[in-house]
Amino acid sequence: MDDWGRNKTALLELVKEGANSECADCGAADPDWVSCTLGVFICLNCSGIHRDLSGISRVKSIRLDFWDDASVEEMRKGNQVVKKCYEAKVPPFYYKPRAADCKVLKEQWIRAKYDRKEFIEANSQWQETFPSGTGAGNRVGYLWKRGKDKGSFHQRSFQLLEKEGTMQYFSKEDGKGPKGVIRVSEMNAIFQPEKIGNPNGLQITYLENGRTRNIFVYHKNGKDIVDWFNAIRAARFRYLKMAFPTASDTDLIPKITWNYAKEGYMEKTGPTEKEPFKRRWFTLDTLDRKLLYFKDPLDAYAQGEVFVGHTEHGYNVTEGLPPGVKGNKWKLGLTIQTPDRRFLFTCENDQDLKEWIKAFKEVISKPMSPQDYTVEATLRRKQR
Ligand SMILES: [Zn+2]
Repeated sequence: MDDWGRNKTALLELVKEGANSECADCGAADPDWVSCTLGVFICLNCSGIHRDLSGISRVKSIRLDFWDDASVEEMRKGNQVVKKCYEAKVPPFYYKPRAADCKVLKEQWIRAKYDRKEFIEANSQWQETFPSGTGAGNRVGYLWKRGKDKGSFHQRSFQLLEKEGTMQYFSKEDGKGPKGVIRVSEMNAIFQPEKIGNPNGLQITYLENGRTRNIFVYHKNGKDIVDWFNAIRAARFRYLKMAFPTASDTDLIPKITWNYAKEGYMEKTGPTEKEPFKRRWFTLDTLDRKLLYFKDPLDAYAQGEVFVGHTEHGYNVTEGLPPGVKGNKWKLGLTIQTPDRRFLFTCENDQDLKEWIKAFKEVISKPMSPQDYTVEATLRRKQR
């Protein structure tokens, strides 16, 4: 075997070992690429981001590029050792993107790690946080917010104050009081580039007088929008630590911000089941156990909110529609049973139907927490 073949074999062995078998940046399985200057094994997707870090990261393919003895030796440290250095001080609230996350999250994570080296020293913008309580969860600046009615985006001044537990936004022109006050205790933030139609689009969801309200924002700069996201997470983490003082970080981290079980269009009929099926945008929130439906995916308010409880409390999901009920354009039905009424939906295709059933089953089989009972009581009262 020549050097080329021998070195390639050595690398292919190395990439199977421990932490090397997952992309150092997003956790994707079986990375095929490396950053030879940083010494990490990475996936094809992340290698594209590394290519833009000229002078910091030089990307090579394990299979396609030439490897000499010295450069193979450089890779022996591997992902675990290098991550220990570049991720030494990642604060617990900071969001580490996974393979399925959107590009801006991954891009900024990689830049924060290797270019700005935000997590090597204990002196970056993220470090002076809980328990000392000054810093990461405070932020002031502009975001472009989608207007409630017209759909165009306007520059608005936002102010996140972790101690007060609020995020407020102001209209630029009038200099008057806040146009909106969001309580950190009742908010979630999710990157939604496709839905919003902007690569840096962020959905902020919160409760406004007990009703779910969505606002859609973006910042032209990727770093700014990801910094906003992590500032919100810092403020949320601080709130959760105070609200649940005995809970561990591991229990609290999934509750800082969370993605939905599923979103998309279905058709639904009304309570008498005689109304024609109409197309609506649905969001199934696993953590809050809520099914929300909207006329338009970017509506500020849901048309309806349905609590999705546990099997033992009379909630169930089944495939198909009851006898005698026909859908409209879409024929693939599913039935959600709640103690108060049943909901009939139809899906566009088989994959959608399967995904919705799976998502509902996931929520319905999850035991209810004490807070869930409070949400259930409020929502069921409103539905009557
Ligand atoms: Zn990756």
